[in-house]
Amino acid sequence: MQRRTVLITGSTSGIGLVIAKAFAKQGCNIIFNGLEANGVDIAQEVAAYYAIEYMFFPANMLQPAALREMVETAMSKFGVIDVLVNNAGIQHVSPIEDFPEDKWNDIIAINLTSAFHLTKAVWPEMKAQNFGRIINIASAHGLFASEFKSAYVAAKHGVVGFTKTAALEGAPFGITCNAICPGYVKTPLVEKQIGDQARVHNLPEDEVIKKVILAKQAIKEFVPVETIAELALFLASDIAATITGTAMPVDGGWSAQ
Ligand code: NAD
Repeated sequence: MQRRTVLITGSTSGIGLVIAKAFAKQGCNIIFNGLEANGVDIAQEVAAYYAIEYMFFPANMLQPAALREMVETAMSKFGVIDVLVNNAGIQHVSPIEDFPEDKWNDIIAINLTSAFHLTKAVWPEMKAQNFGRIINIASAHGLFASEFKSAYVAAKHGVVGFTKTAALEGAPFGITCNAICPGYVKTPLVEKQIGDQARVHNLPEDEVIKKVILAKQAIKEFVPVETIAELALFLASDIAATITGTAMPVDGGWSAQ
């Protein structure tokens, strides 16, 4: 894994940041991305701790030209991007009849279309070197629906479909593409939902976690973020060369029901 170059979108927070640290620990070069105001400091701190080469880009997933520029600039420094982790994502919860159209468009663009633009941008060099790993952070909502999450569920199902197509097209060229489908992981994205649900249901947060947030998981515990990061590392490794086109649930038994 050492010296591989890894681009992780949304890697200055939550799941993406822990994935970045896991690859950094292996000695990989990391291309950080995210919209956090202190993103550049976060990237610098991780890179200094693990003594790795890095770059940071606040490229917005809504702007395809910025994504292409990020890839081109990173490739001019590192030559090739060996591993792409499409992780950046947002959520909005609302019934369909009230769902704001701009939120729908943003969720599809950030959670789904950015994965297409970035995959397209890294593809020729991965193909030329006959090695590539694309890991898409989908969701249990890439396999199942929940009410009031229409855009998110549509986007994540789209990510799973895109993953399968990229797997077929990449197979002759040593490029694998897989989706990880987490249940609930305690990150800033979910912390906000806990507070919102506690207010709506008028319940203390610990009860909201068990009765509302984790209702669909058989194991009433958050999925540790490290579990997602370790699975991403495994999928990026040489030993995972024949695993492709999958959508792997890591969901405390949600998908067993
Ligand atoms: P998070 O809010 O902690 O991190 C999201 C990251 O995406 C941040 O770095 C943010 O800056 C970045 N981002 C958002 N919009 C962006 C944009 N327009 N351009 C560039 N970057 C942008 O959330 P998280 O929970 O770590 O989520 C990461 C991924 O995991 C998402 O795709 C999410 O859907 C998925 N996921 C999360 C959970 C969970 O329970 N937390 C479960 C399943 C799937």
